[in-house]
Amino acid sequence: MSNRATDFDVIVVGGGHAGTEAALASARMGAKTLLVTNNIDTLGQMSCNPAIGGIGKGHLVKEIDAMGGIMGRAADYAGIQFRILNASKGPAVQATRAQADRALYKQFIRSAIESQSNLFIFQQEVMDLILEGDRVTGIVTNLGVSLSSKSVILTVGTFLGGKIHVGKQKSSGGRAGCAPSIALAETLRALPFTVGRLKTGTPPRIDGRTVDFSVMETQPGTDPIPHFSFWTPLVAHPRQVCCHITYTTSSTHQIIRDNLSKSAMYSGEIEGIGPRYCPSIEDKIVRFADKERHQIFVEPEGLQTIELYPNGLSTSLPYEVQVEFIRSIIGFENAHILRPGYAIEYDYFNPQQLKPTLETKPLSRLFFAGQINGTTGYEEAAAQGLIAGINAASLALDKETWYPKREEAYIGVLIDDLITHGTTEPYRMFTSRAEYRLLLREDNADARLSERAYNIGCLPKQQYEQFLLKKEGVSSNKKNLHSFWFRPNTVQSEKLLIETGVALTEEANALQLLKRPEVRIQHLVSAGLLLGEADTPFLHQKILEQIEVQVKYEGYIVRQEEEIQRARATEHYILGEDFDYSTVRGLSNEISEKLIRIKPYTLGEASRIAGVTPAAISLLLVYLKKHHRGKVTIDE
Ligand code: FAD
Repeated sequence: MSNRATDFDVIVVGGGHAGTEAALASARMGAKTLLVTNNIDTLGQMSCNPAIGGIGKGHLVKEIDAMGGIMGRAADYAGIQFRILNASKGPAVQATRAQADRALYKQFIRSAIESQSNLFIFQQEVMDLILEGDRVTGIVTNLGVSLSSKSVILTVGTFLGGKIHVGKQKSSGGRAGCAPSIALAETLRALPFTVGRLKTGTPPRIDGRTVDFSVMETQPGTDPIPHFSFWTPLVAHPRQVCCHITYTTSSTHQIIRDNLSKSAMYSGEIEGIGPRYCPSIEDKIVRFADKERHQIFVEPEGLQTIELYPNGLSTSLPYEVQVEFIRSIIGFENAHILRPGYAIEYDYFNPQQLKPTLETKPLSRLFFAGQINGTTGYEEAAAQGLIAGINAASLALDKETWYPKREEAYIGVLIDDLITHGTTEPYRMFTSRAEYRLLLREDNADARLSERAYNIGCLPKQQYEQFLLKKEGVSSNKKNLHSFWFRPNTVQSEKLLIETGVALTEEANALQLLKRPEVRIQHLVSAGLLLGEADTPFLHQKILEQIEVQVKYEGYIVRQEEEIQRARATEHYILGEDFDYSTVRGLSNEISEKLIRIKPYTLGEASRIAGVTPAAISLLLVYLKKHHRGKVTIDE
């Protein structure tokens, strides 16, 4: 790396989940990329629980993976317990979750970054941005090094003005053991961004040698062990372990109630708003006062460590109170705390000031991704990092920008929610946030995104070729289902009857049979259905799964696709930043003001802003059509 300025296409600031994904995506796109982080040893560090995925989040990981991102493969490499959540429900809401070995995860991310061509790393704290008018052209570091680039992505997580709270004790920090970003926070506060404060917390970590697991429930992983990555089995899982479940007691609740005034959260020390769906134990005791006990997942932090993460016990109570309440929990009677729990508050910026590419509206060529945009979670951060990386590189290389729409990906839902509604509390992904859940499944993320990712240069050829093999396998084997007939009173139909209870009275092809709820594709295969074999058992299994979902849910899927076609009629008309709302007759002042303030990029975004009525959308649509403005941006 040259230390002269003007050397990079893209500079990414921060080496967390957004930063690493952004830098890798940008470099894969062919942009000369520099990742600047204040500590190289913390690349890919998980600030909180070393777990990846879960409801809604697992979908994000699969989408990132389908586009060539790193998170899924890192989770496969580091996952020590995998589970399919909602396994008894339909495929739309099933989600993969992995408890990861923290050290292995970091190791995988670091080595992926070090082996990525076009990507350089530099350990420095970024203090300032270089501006030319309203365009960002580089950064300045703590050593006074100026580096210029065509685009800059900020992914500085919880570090901006970060303040750590344990009871009444306050200290500055980006997370435990890390200095906060004060200078950069001041720089950004002086720029035309709307800044807010949010908070989040983490539980005390426990020494596993001091825990009595015999009184806890054992929670094994799912068998067979799932994979996040579509491109596995390139990556093998490490040794698998169990997690455990325990409970708080009435004594735990009493101790916490007695000490509420000492909690940073309740004594008014923290001004920021915390994550609704990941509340502190203090919050839970107050909000669900009638609950006699709360479930705690006792999760290992890795294979080579005694450290445990008691999931559900995030707290900002003083250390002495943490010791007292921890020891009132079943199995924790003699527990030793390795690291006290704490809460952290930090600056974030109103994501309504972002374009859907994650470039900021006030300053061109500057992108924000991750917790800085008001989200919480590794997966949400990584998803934004990927999109910011793609678009920062695209602008730098004079290519077209791209972002997924709501009907294409959870990543599209995430970005659209953020830029349309903003957020006043840490935003996390759930399946309930998507209107087209049946199409946005984990299992088909590759079918939704891999082709596009390859075309824009973000998915390597090797993975794309695997994707094509799968696509071809699904298509040719679906044809086999059509032409393979089961007839009554044959060996095959007898076998089917024994395995599924389905008695044939007339002949039926495999496709018709697979639509029946009792019949799984494996039943048909073991009864004699002939299917083409894929290159590897892994791919073969994926092909079978995909065929099964497509056939069983065909009716619903077709209906949802029709809904999307109808919505597309207006969704993708571009309004753009320069749209003059005062020229649209009939638009109320209140709605005009709102639209001028938020500057929705598309008509679809405008329609989701609270208070913007369907009548106002019709007026805008008529105007756009009349003036031949707002071309449709999607591939029809
Ligand atoms: P981070 O992972 O925080 O990465 C920021 C990166 O920027 C770091 O590499 C840092 O070194 C670097 N950096 C910062 N400032 C500078 C600078 N000036 N110059 C150079 N580099 C800089 N998520 C959940 O889903 N559930 C939870 O319960 C949860 N609890 C949390 C509890 C705590 C205490 C913390 C700190 C986080 C918690 N999170 C939780 C959030 C999760 O850690 C983040 O959402 C995720 O890490 C955000 O990723 P990011 O890439 O945006 O930022």
